[in-house]
Amino acid sequence: MESMSSYKAHVEKYGTPISDAQFKTLRSYAESENIRMSGFKDFVGDIETIKLVIDDIAEIARDFPKILDGKEGIILELDYNLGSDFATTMFGHIIHLNGGYFADVDEMQEEYADGVAKRRFVKGTDWRAIARHETGHVVANLYHINPMEIARAIRAGKSRARILEDLEDDLSLYSAEYEDGREIISECFSAFYSKTGNPFAEEYVALCKEVVGNEVI
Ligand SMILES: [Zn+2]
Repeated sequence: MESMSSYKAHVEKYGTPISDAQFKTLRSYAESENIRMSGFKDFVGDIETIKLVIDDIAEIARDFPKILDGKEGIILELDYNLGSDFATTMFGHIIHLNGGYFADVDEMQEEYADGVAKRRFVKGTDWRAIARHETGHVVANLYHINPMEIARAIRAGKSRARILEDLEDDLSLYSAEYEDGREIISECFSAFYSKTGNPFAEEYVALCKEVVGNEVI
C-alpha cells in the first residue's frame, strides 16, 4: 500500500489517478486478452489509450501466441521512472510503459513524430508503434530469436556492419543503434504491425513467422 505522502506527491506531479471503476474496467479488458498488468492504479491518463496498447499486443499474439501464453506471457507494467524512454522491455516478458508519456497521448505523439522526422523511428509509424516495438523484443526473448541472424538470412552475403549501415536507410536509425542487432526485430515489428509497407520489415516478420512455425530456432 502506498503511503499518503507519496500518493500526494504523485497527484501533485502527474494528476489524479484513474478511479477504481476505471481501473477494474481496464483490468478486465487486459484479462480478456490474457495480459497481466501492474502499477495501473497510478495511471493518470485515458484508459482508452491503454486499451489500444492491449489491442496491439493481442494482434501480434495471434501470430506469436507464446507471448500471451501462461506464466511467461506479457506483463504490462506502468513505470514512472523511465526517464526519456517511451517504454522498455527490461526482462523477458515485462513491458514497462512510461507513465508520464502515456498520461498524455497528444504530447507523446508529438515527441514520437519528432523521432520519425529525424529518421530515428520508421517512416509512417505513430505512437501506436511503441508497444509494437516492445512486443517485438518479447517475441525475440520468448521464441529465442536472434534478431541479427534473421537479418542475415534476408541480406545474405552481407557483413553485420553493412547490414546495420543499410538499415539506417531502409528501416530506421534506431534499428541500427546496437551492434548486436537487438533493435532490428523491434523496429521491424513496429513497421510491419503499423502497416507501413516497409519492404524489409515485411520480409523480416514473414521470416520470423516461418521460423516460429517450423520451430527451427
Ligand atoms: Zn527496443
